[in-house]
Amino acid sequence: MELWFTEKQTPYLGLSCAVKGVLYSCRTAFQELAILETSQFGRMLVLDGMVQTTIFDEYIYHEMIAHVPLVTHPRPRQVLVIGGGDGGTVREVVKHQRVEKVTLVEIDREVVEASRRFLPELSSALDSPKVELICTDGLQYVKNKHAVYDVIIVDSTEPVGAAVGLFKKEFYADVYTALRDDGILVAQTESPFYNQQLLKSAYHNINSLFPRVHLYLANIPTYPSGLWSFTIGSKKYDPLNPLPPEERLTVNRYYTLGVHRASFSLPPFISRLLEA
Ligand code: SAM
Repeated sequence: MELWFTEKQTPYLGLSCAVKGVLYSCRTAFQELAILETSQFGRMLVLDGMVQTTIFDEYIYHEMIAHVPLVTHPRPRQVLVIGGGDGGTVREVVKHQRVEKVTLVEIDREVVEASRRFLPELSSALDSPKVELICTDGLQYVKNKHAVYDVIIVDSTEPVGAAVGLFKKEFYADVYTALRDDGILVAQTESPFYNQQLLKSAYHNINSLFPRVHLYLANIPTYPSGLWSFTIGSKKYDPLNPLPPEERLTVNRYYTLGVHRASFSLPPFISRLLEA
């Protein structure tokens, strides 16, 4: 018998893949969590029926959300990751020798536990002495923090449930205050094809606070439409003129300095969307 999982990416479109087995599933205090063994993508983390990450293509998302801001900032010592309980972003952040401490603020401890158990490729760096794990709501955590972080990475789920506020202006304003005066924010901002309103609103919210704002793109096969956007807000440094990455970052699977620069080159339909 063949088992298939379908993520309904829009009311009219789904991504379906054959499932060899359900390794784990539970209802946490925040969401429906499942770890699937798929034939095409290997292990897959699914939250509330939406693909979060797969062994097949996780490196693209995690390298791009972490290295773009960390190569732009010349001295990223204190880094905050909000969401990202699978550990993939933290794994990339700790590759930067200049980073002294990474604080991971994930609302759902069960995501971290499931990732430690079933996705060691992603969660391996969670035990690094540089990493502090705090299981609480990122919206509350950033309130009343002043000039603490060099880089803040918002590695959130889609804007449903606890993540809705992570795309709002009030939250970005708290993030702005929590950053030092040369700090950088990066947030995942969904598909430029299927989430245009959300992308536009997140971009404009960040643009109303940060002097430099840019959208950049990556191709991620298991995410809706395959084309994914990230929005970077910088108080000082120009993400289009990054520093040469440290030696060890030249052995990534997706990120290079060339990919970094190219990822800011937007097709006109996306530039026009941001202007509107
Ligand atoms: N790469 C993924 C994507 O774009 O689909 C995101 C992966 S990561 C698993 C997202 C995490 O954000 C989830 O584990 C979820 O529990 C967490 N999260 C959602 N809302 C949050 C909040 N308000 N504070 C902290 N973490 C939150």
